[in-house]
Amino acid sequence: MCTTYLASIIINELKENGINIEGNPHLIRLNPFARYKTRGNGAVSFKIAISNKTDINKIKEIVLKNVKEHAMFEHENTNPGVVFYDGEITDKMIDYAFKTIYSLITIKQAEKFANEIGAEIHKFKKGRGIIGSIAAIACPLLDYTYELISYRVKDNYGKKRKINKDSVKLMDKETFPETFENIDGDYIAIEPRTPCPVLYGIRGESVNALEIAKGIVEADETIDSYSIFKTNQHTDMHLRKIDKIANMEKYGCYIVEGIVDDDPHVIEGGHLFFTLKDESGEIEAAAYEPTKDFRKIIKELKKGDHLRLYGGIGCGGTFNIEKIKIISLIANTTYQNPTCNCGKRMTSAGKNKGFKCKKCGFKLPDGEKIAIIEDRNLKEDKFYETPVSARRHLSKPLIRMNINR
Ligand SMILES: [Zn+2]
Repeated sequence: MCTTYLASIIINELKENGINIEGNPHLIRLNPFARYKTRGNGAVSFKIAISNKTDINKIKEIVLKNVKEHAMFEHENTNPGVVFYDGEITDKMIDYAFKTIYSLITIKQAEKFANEIGAEIHKFKKGRGIIGSIAAIACPLLDYTYELISYRVKDNYGKKRKINKDSVKLMDKETFPETFENIDGDYIAIEPRTPCPVLYGIRGESVNALEIAKGIVEADETIDSYSIFKTNQHTDMHLRKIDKIANMEKYGCYIVEGIVDDDPHVIEGGHLFFTLKDESGEIEAAAYEPTKDFRKIIKELKKGDHLRLYGGIGCGGTFNIEKIKIISLIANTTYQNPTCNCGKRMTSAGKNKGFKCKKCGFKLPDGEKIAIIEDRNLKEDKFYETPVSARRHLSKPLIRMNINR
């Protein structure tokens, strides 16, 4: 079961019972490198202004009933959690939310924190979901985007989705950059790759742009319902600037600067690696096979290049690159023998004996090789990012950064 769909079912039932939620529900993505995460590592929250205290029990009943009814408890990774919180969002809660997004919180810590703030928790199986639920309630959205998610009728679950490709391309053409990340050449990014209830998810800057986009996208199957979530997706909220490579930790997400310490090398499977270092230490950085053409950029790096990396450290201790900024490039110098007055390239006359011309016999005993600075295929002061197909939910695309590509 998809958390956004479950939230959508709950919100609809609340509405049928005369209970309205304030604004759009929030979809908060947590640390993409967390060890025990679900696939998208997302949590959903929504806010209700209570005018009648007797509504509280009815609301709780509707929420819990739907989780029990729809969650797929037979899956090992399904460990839902529900949190009810009545009150102001405190600074302490905001700090907690950030910890779940750029580092890690355990179920135990979440439970203790819920007690401290007086939140009511409901754990199902291991109840891991309470970690993200508290974060979804507390997470501030200073920078945010929206996602319109449409759902399929139950009979179609698991069947091939019938989305009209051309209509998606047209939608992108008409609404980009107010909508973004929805196609990548021929790749239709709005279509999930999993057999979940989602038909498509369109990403955009505003509710209005998404409504227009939905009007353009055509599908040859019935849409059961749709919801628009306000979200921290594509905001880089998970990244923290860090001064020293040595201070980075496993499962952390960072913006870090350093010098390339070796020319990048490919391993089996097409993954590309290089070492980034500073005075404090070094880390292995990777552009994995799914990042496709981004690897061609990484391959152009040379020992001595100065970079800023954006990304996070996975369980293997390797830094997964989401995007890079080139601060400075090392000169790519090659050396050539001098050219003779007759136009012929000279050859070595032996060790420390300079050069000689094989054509006219001219000698240059004190001659030196000539340095040639070759053009690099990369540009200084420029960003390079992974393609849409490999982009993480939280990664901020360059189109949202007001940067000329
Ligand atoms: Zn010559």
